[in-house]
Amino acid sequence: MVTQTGTAVSAGVAIAPAVVLRHSESKATHDFIDDKYSELERYRTARAAVLSMFDELQANAEGDEVSLLLMFRVMVEDPEFSAAIEKLIVNESYNAAWAVETATATYVSMLDSIGNEYFRERIADLKDVERRLVSQLLGETKVIALQSQSVLVADYLLPSELISLDRTKLHGICLDGGGKTSHVAILAKSSGIPTVVSLGDFSTKVRSGQVVVVDGKYGIAVAEPERKELREYLKKQKRALRQDQVLLRKAHLPARTLDGRRIHLYANVESADGIDKALKAGADGIGLFRTEFLAFTKDESEETYINAAAAAAPHKLTFRTYDIGGDKLPDDLRIEEENPVIGWRAVRFCMKNKDMFQRQLIAILKASAVNPGVQVMFPMISGPDELREVLGFFEETKEKCWREGIAFNEDIKTGAMIEVPSAALTADLLARQVDFLSLGTNDLTQYTLAVDRGNSTISYLYKPLHPAMLRLMKTVVDAARKAKVPLSICGEMAGELDYLPVLIGMGLDELSMSARSILEARLRTRALKAEDCRTLFDTVSSLPDNASIEKALEEFNSTYGKT
Ligand code: PEP
Ligand code: MG
Repeated sequence: MVTQTGTAVSAGVAIAPAVVLRHSESKATHDFIDDKYSELERYRTARAAVLSMFDELQANAEGDEVSLLLMFRVMVEDPEFSAAIEKLIVNESYNAAWAVETATATYVSMLDSIGNEYFRERIADLKDVERRLVSQLLGETKVIALQSQSVLVADYLLPSELISLDRTKLHGICLDGGGKTSHVAILAKSSGIPTVVSLGDFSTKVRSGQVVVVDGKYGIAVAEPERKELREYLKKQKRALRQDQVLLRKAHLPARTLDGRRIHLYANVESADGIDKALKAGADGIGLFRTEFLAFTKDESEETYINAAAAAAPHKLTFRTYDIGGDKLPDDLRIEEENPVIGWRAVRFCMKNKDMFQRQLIAILKASAVNPGVQVMFPMISGPDELREVLGFFEETKEKCWREGIAFNEDIKTGAMIEVPSAALTADLLARQVDFLSLGTNDLTQYTLAVDRGNSTISYLYKPLHPAMLRLMKTVVDAARKAKVPLSICGEMAGELDYLPVLIGMGLDELSMSARSILEARLRTRALKAEDCRTLFDTVSSLPDNASIEKALEEFNSTYGKT
């Protein structure tokens, strides 16, 4: 039995056989080989195997997948690409996997230098082909083959990989690295999959097929549990399921504090499917639709937006425009940047890929004709000038729709995310340009404290309640109130039950979170008095450090309503 503790991400208990995935072992080593010709043969065999794998996939493919697979096939069969690889093997004595990576890198920089969206998309395809060839050469099956019930144990997982998995088979996730607010963690949580991250070297200690327990509430992962432990966890699992049922039965109750303050609970979703689940959990609407995940699943058609709008009607539905970049790039679209998180991300990416951006804005505008609650929100705004430019482009797009006779809601509301410190400090100025603001505390914490939200080595410094965060957030709350512009919070901290009294006390009354968190936040809100929360906020914001803030909050939460 191996037990390891990490960071709890998504509550619930999962018990199932492990499927182990270790990316870190899949990189080609840079060794020279002696027998060039058998290495050449090995490459040709791997290439043939990849082609026949595409044939198999093709047999079950549908729609866009068919053309994508065809494109992959063309690339693998491309004589120039193959010649470049074979040359490296024969002339330079590179091992085959290294040769594939080197030849791909040359092609990628060539395509990248063209600077056109079509070619950039081809980079994605080329990288996918590279990955398959290298995996084949390294003797791995990189396709994550889940059993009917599986716990995925991995060193790390890309959001795009999680999206491509059949989540009905995925009962739990254990990752060696990652942070609580990394995007893969957010996705796992919104899919309701018990998940633990920052588990150290857990994936090296587990073999595929071994039974693994994931306790997503307490952040524990156990491989090959002893009979006694297993029995305990089975009981715990039953209890957690029962509790979910109880919570669901109370989904209709209003989230109103004991002294009458109405708190609006919205949902964060990543797909149209999530909307139904959110509304069943009693969400007042969708506070954040992370549309970039639609781009990953190639589900970007206008119908997707329109269907989502119809599913959410008559409630509010906030489409956040693509936040592509940072850790939210499919591996195959990764752009080489020194600092991707403060690099070419979100509106910065979109304003340089205007065709793609405009297609999305038109889809959102069309959706607004179906549901007047549809609104659009822009991520990673860093200040008033950038916001003005983005809004200008939105206006241009509206005019285009107008000219082309496309129906849309002309009063569609626009919003800016406050997730960069410079935006927080100029919230009063941003408020003059938009109809609403939303605090993205996942990034705001990362950028304010200079702590990468996905880096488990420094996650001990990732403190959303840091005095700097409390001050910054309060600045935004006050600015929004003064400007009479609605402000919500859609970072993960909104769904942390323990933080709820501080957020209410700070003056926030629109919170957006995962559907499951809504169920719990509703009951917690109903047990609080807004006045007591305000007193708590005054207390914690005058404390000198994070430790005392957390201690005061812990005391409040453990004693409140119990005397
Ligand atoms: C945030 O940064 O808080 C946010 C909601 O956006 P994302 O997590 O998608 O970066
Ligand atoms: Mg963000």
